[in-house]
Amino acid sequence: MTQAVVSLNSGSSSIKFALFTLEEPGNPRLSAGGKIERIGIAPSLAIRSIAGETLHAHIWADGAGLSHAELLEYLFAWARGHLDGHEIVAIGHRVVHGGTEFAAPCRLDEAILAKLEKLCPLAPLHQPHNLAAIRAIARLAPGLPQIACFDTAFHHDKPEIAARFALPRALHAQGIRRYGFHGLSYEFLIRRLAELDPVLASGKIIAAHLGNGASLCAIADGRSVDTTMGFTALDGLMMGTRSGALDPGVVLHLQTQLGMRAAEVEELLYRQSGLLGVSGISSDMRTLSESGRPEAEEAIELFAWRAAREAAALAASLGGLDGMLFTAGIGENHADVRARICRRLQWLGVELDAEANARNATVISDAESRVRVLVIPTDEERMIALHTLGVLQGGSA
Ligand code: AMP
Repeated sequence: MTQAVVSLNSGSSSIKFALFTLEEPGNPRLSAGGKIERIGIAPSLAIRSIAGETLHAHIWADGAGLSHAELLEYLFAWARGHLDGHEIVAIGHRVVHGGTEFAAPCRLDEAILAKLEKLCPLAPLHQPHNLAAIRAIARLAPGLPQIACFDTAFHHDKPEIAARFALPRALHAQGIRRYGFHGLSYEFLIRRLAELDPVLASGKIIAAHLGNGASLCAIADGRSVDTTMGFTALDGLMMGTRSGALDPGVVLHLQTQLGMRAAEVEELLYRQSGLLGVSGISSDMRTLSESGRPEAEEAIELFAWRAAREAAALAASLGGLDGMLFTAGIGENHADVRARICRRLQWLGVELDAEANARNATVISDAESRVRVLVIPTDEERMIALHTLGVLQGGSA
């Protein structure tokens, strides 16, 4: 029987999953994957083979009340009947927050889960859903090894100065510090870059994960040295619906002068701001590009301006710049946004090849560019599978 591992990424309104089979040691092969979306509204499930053929689809039109656990139970029951001679030996989970303690993936048990529960207030929109999936699977398949892969871990050893807010020391000691996120994506990019251009992979890189959530990471010799997300995934770049970095005085004003309650401020900053808030049209970059309205143009330009401004700050953290990597929905596909960001970084030695950029080529910088610019599709699910195997084998990926 061929062994298999499952990667699970359980968010507030969606659960993404991927099944990797282990014919070859150390090289998990994607065999199927899919998503449950619109959880809490009318959940829908689609499972696709590697060839893109739909293996199973289901919509719960009246399923607003279905919990993550109930939906996972359905998925599990389906998987049990369709494993085609594969045995699932472990499930790897994306866990957003590993706090100050968890610097590497680890096998979950009750004691670790209890520690991770305590971190829920630091990632209220993500961590509870990550942990709910782990608990649901522990009930459905007791004894099946479950591995936590942390989004914060890649940033764990960044320099102390990049972890500090200018707040009293006691708060830093309590964990109010800059953690950084999207770590699984950045780890994957650096592994891939080491295959594509090993010399550049040991240089000074800014990686741009530009999707619905967006951040930049400064990477020197394969290690995170600074990143735009901080204490929460709200910091840094403008995102689909999140504001990114904001004068903290705005938050005080919203509460003290406009009388907004904490929950309303949270809703505003996480779900009503960013591209959606500025355009008043959509959180989706593609929709904005096709809109032609001036508010959409303003939102796109602000997104690019903010990204370039933060990239320049990270170049200072790195003390130079050899390469830039673009990834995630916008970074991989949106040539115009990449061009807008890179144009603002020309003074750092970034020169795009317009034709290569337009066709989303792997290398999009001009041959004369001092900074090499690449587009690398991210694969957080594969990174989770690699870490899961690493933990099962007693090492790391
Ligand atoms: P993600 O969170 O990585 O799925 O990224 C979502 C964002 O990527 C949305 O703003 C989409 O509009 C954008 N996006 C996805 N595909 C494309 C595409 N082919 N062209 C331009 N933007 C895209």
